[in-house]
Amino acid sequence: MATIELAALEKTYPGGVRAVDGLSLTIGDGEFFALLGPSGCGKTTLLRTIAGLEEATGGSLSIGEREVTRLAPGQRDVAMVFQDYALFPHMTVLDNIAYPLRIKRVARSARHDRARQTGAGLELAELMARRPAELSGGQQQRVALARAVVAHPSAFLFDEPLSNLDARLRLSARSFLKRLQRELGVTTIFVTHDQAEALAMADRIAVMEAGRIRQVGTPREVFGRPANTFVANFIGSTPMNLLPASVTDGRLVLAAGSLPAPAGLGARREVTVGIRPEYLDFSAAAVPDALSGTVSIVEHLGTSSLVTLETEGGPLGVVVPEEAEPAAGSTGWAVPRAGRVLLYNSETGDLIT
Ligand code: ATP
Repeated sequence: MATIELAALEKTYPGGVRAVDGLSLTIGDGEFFALLGPSGCGKTTLLRTIAGLEEATGGSLSIGEREVTRLAPGQRDVAMVFQDYALFPHMTVLDNIAYPLRIKRVARSARHDRARQTGAGLELAELMARRPAELSGGQQQRVALARAVVAHPSAFLFDEPLSNLDARLRLSARSFLKRLQRELGVTTIFVTHDQAEALAMADRIAVMEAGRIRQVGTPREVFGRPANTFVANFIGSTPMNLLPASVTDGRLVLAAGSLPAPAGLGARREVTVGIRPEYLDFSAAAVPDALSGTVSIVEHLGTSSLVTLETEGGPLGVVVPEEAEPAAGSTGWAVPRAGRVLLYNSETGDLIT
């Protein structure tokens, strides 16, 4: 069992920056867990603190039911893969892969056998005698992964391991990594600022802001029901529409039109309505329970387009299939799909319903 448990974990740098601000979190055995958030939110610091490369300044950390808060990195039984791979330039591919076994004092022939086996699984068999400088970026990345998995650690810690790859290689590396993790069943924490990557790969995602976690959930939960407007803004290839509304006689009244209000709002008067552009249907004719505006921008996304409606209450994004694309300057109506209107507290930004 390699559950990773953080209890009020804190890392304040000597200069006073509190990069990890008292995080409590349990990552399940075998789980693929992504840490996502804007630049500087503390993802790398959290990962390095879990690895033992940074010393926690508060709280505690357990890996596999063993408290490791004060243990050195080598005693934590985790393997870390960094953005820049950090391969040993003077060593061959074989010796790079075998390195963790050397640290564990596995005999030379045994460690070379295991390194060859692991390398072969990653299509590195032909490259064993080369040095890192003689490899492509993708090959270097595979060596770094082989080195991470060779000693069968309890956990993998990945810090943007795919960020140096070009778009196509990145996609194949994504599915490769995901498959490998499934097969090995190793608990994995994956840091990325690329939300598409997190949504595609992770079992669960933590969205961080300024050293804190704003939401933990499955990709579906984080995308479909962001817990607050910060997460709503951060997740999604097109940002969520967030519009002020007032609740009057069972209706949500926006500047661009009115919609039926969900039950159970109580005495609340002012709310922020959140609707993803993907969950709005476009109509070129007037329809009830819709928001209207003038088509100002049409951006091609491939098989669909992002249409911006200029409404009385500000711009409203709607994803429209390519065959239904409207002309700029025309009037359009956007109809939310059933159950897809989210309401946020207009002061705190927290999800109401
Ligand atoms: P990015 O996505 O840009 O890599 P991140 O989410 O990984 O960012 P961190 O690198 O963990 O963020 O940084 C978190 C905060 O801690 C930032 O404010 C950063 O400036 C600060 N920080 C990072 N390393 C140090 C350090 N060695 N000393 C002092 N402050 C640091």
